[in-house]
Amino acid sequence: MPKPIANQCIVACGRTVDIGTPVVLWNQPGGYRCPHPRGRSGCHQHDPEWNDAPTHPFDTYQIANTEHALEELKQAVHQLILHYDVCYTSHHCHDVLQQSAAMGSHFYLDLDGTLYQTCDLYWKTNTAPADDGKGNERSIHVEMANLSWQARAEESDLYHAKQDLYVRHGKRWRLQLPDAYRNTLRTPGFHAHPARAHGERGYFSRRINGRIVRMWDFTEEQYQALIRLCIGVHELFDGHFPLKVPLDKNTGRTPLDRLRNFASFRGILGHAHVQAGTAPGVKCKYDPGSAFDWGRLRRAFEAYRRNAS
Ligand SMILES: [Zn+2]
Repeated sequence: MPKPIANQCIVACGRTVDIGTPVVLWNQPGGYRCPHPRGRSGCHQHDPEWNDAPTHPFDTYQIANTEHALEELKQAVHQLILHYDVCYTSHHCHDVLQQSAAMGSHFYLDLDGTLYQTCDLYWKTNTAPADDGKGNERSIHVEMANLSWQARAEESDLYHAKQDLYVRHGKRWRLQLPDAYRNTLRTPGFHAHPARAHGERGYFSRRINGRIVRMWDFTEEQYQALIRLCIGVHELFDGHFPLKVPLDKNTGRTPLDRLRNFASFRGILGHAHVQAGTAPGVKCKYDPGSAFDWGRLRRAFEAYRRNAS
């Protein structure tokens, strides 16, 4: 059984919405604090010196007028960007971001479906500059635990996996998580199974921004929590934030490459949709990758709209 937790709320400008799934906040036991918060240039309820300045102590990031701040935030933010973290677990992801010079992410989504919010959404986290360098100003980010191609021995140049890290157990695949990482999950003894498997080989393979990305799927627990997070952000922003993912009307599918209207798109999209590395110093990105089930999000949002109307 998972450790008991009271909180199911996410927070923007001090305002909370219950999303019906466990969320560990930065100020709760077991929480993670964003290692490098920044101010958003479109928001004015903080000292503008914090905008792109070196990190101050976490507790100095105070919002002057939370009501005005939320109104400004609604104007400034219109994208929720999905990432895979190329890590074993969210604890691992936090370690990596902490050691980076300036990076962070508003949310981590762990293998067992636990969400971690690392700071109030008023703040900016440096997660994805996008091809115009303004990606973080308009976005909220979630880093979802998944090793992507690093789980395949053949392609694991970062962690040097000796064997594929997903192994078949009967009909299901299972992530072979080293104990040191497994012990960081909130749900003791949790085993990560991909929500879907592709054919006999298990992993999915599709071309994204010019690269073939081979990876196993996210877990069922991650999809369920992610859908609740998307709906929660939509509700927190009083509907200013549409429950919409990119859709190609000709194919009826979500395209995987960088979008032409990546800066103006309003809704939920992937890092790869906003960043193909066309600007100097900006890397090409592929997340949330070939296994991510965009159709599931579309169907969940349609069901939400049906129930709401
Ligand atoms: Zn990313």
